[in-house]
Amino acid sequence: MMNTSTQRRLFLKLSGSALAAIPVVALTGNAMAATNAQMRTALKYQDKPLADKNCANCLHFVPGASATAKGGCKLMPGDTEIAPAGYCTAWAKKA
Ligand code: SF4
Repeated sequence: MMNTSTQRRLFLKLSGSALAAIPVVALTGNAMAATNAQMRTALKYQDKPLADKNCANCLHFVPGASATAKGGCKLMPGDTEIAPAGYCTAWAKKA
């Protein structure tokens, strides 16, 4: 049986983790938004193009709802925040 002090500490600990998770959702403004940080780092993803190379003209891009909307990438599972104007080292010209 936990005493009151232990319960209070546990509560504060849990509240802290719950609060820490809030800014992620608030920053993107979209609870469904997700990024694949591991693959982004591995492939050196950036939000801007490299000369004329960008996600919109890459073989691996999965377009979003419109030409300017964020979409996905076949090489970054679960990532819904790939910018059409983005770029990474796995870029390959779309046929
Ligand atoms: S492979 Fe790289 S450049 Fe191509 S769509 Fe994916 S993130 Fe963009």
